[in-house]
Amino acid sequence: MLGRVMAAPADYHMHTPLCHHAVGDPREYVDAAARCGISEMGFACHSPMDGPFDDWRMAIEDLPRYLEMVDEARAHGETVGVVVRLGLEVDYLRGHESWIEELASRAPWDYLIGSVHYLTDELVVDHPDHLSQVQARYTAEEVWERYWELYVRAIQSCSFDFMAHPDLPKKFGRLPEGDLDRFYTPAIAAMVEADTAFEINTAGLRKPIQALYPADSFLRLAQAAGVPLVISSDAHAPDEVGGHFPEAVAVAKDAGYTRLARFTGRSRTLHAF
Ligand code: ZN
Ligand code: FE
Ligand code: FE
Ligand code: ZN
Repeated sequence: MLGRVMAAPADYHMHTPLCHHAVGDPREYVDAAARCGISEMGFACHSPMDGPFDDWRMAIEDLPRYLEMVDEARAHGETVGVVVRLGLEVDYLRGHESWIEELASRAPWDYLIGSVHYLTDELVVDHPDHLSQVQARYTAEEVWERYWELYVRAIQSCSFDFMAHPDLPKKFGRLPEGDLDRFYTPAIAAMVEADTAFEINTAGLRKPIQALYPADSFLRLAQAAGVPLVISSDAHAPDEVGGHFPEAVAVAKDAGYTRLARFTGRSRTLHAF
């Protein structure tokens, strides 16, 4: 449909205040998208767990409200020419696979994003409050080994349409020594096998590392392997919608990408950008 026209990327990774660390009415995110020339967007707030778990995700009781908010945003989008999709950023946690399956059946999702934030049952790799504990317990090498092992498992679960912020553990600037392709290669092979896409996430530019997720080398390896790509802002506030998209587009094109993935009803199509 959009194949002949160069379209601005869809921005599918946006949060809502239901996760307690994002601000702004979803309709304001829609207005922000319209201002950036983004014609398709989606919400993907942090997935609920089946009971009390942590303080940075929506509660399971709030899931109906989330669906309602996205509906409100979709109705608003129709008045400003922005298509709004329904997604969820789902935490992959070992031992919770059946809950992820259950969640997948609870709403007519357009896509599910797979994320690894938890290194262990208690330690969150990208949470500033957990940073000193993570650093005290693991070397950078150990953090990356654990993270990527979980990331590969998440992909292999085949539960997700695309994977979030691939090299998230670099957020605070602590990286293992040497060539990091050794961490990327198994993840890319798993994405090929599972037919899963991934995102360039521009939020890294707002973090201490001040770089896109993932690194250029990951992007080039993924492009060569034919893994589909999405560009996301991971907006937690309306003014972050579509943030740094020109940079991400340039980097994606430079890596050889000519098309980006779009999702509806959990099916994927590719569009020139
Ligand atoms: Zn968040
Ligand atoms: Fe995330
Ligand atoms: Fe997110
Ligand atoms: Zn995120």
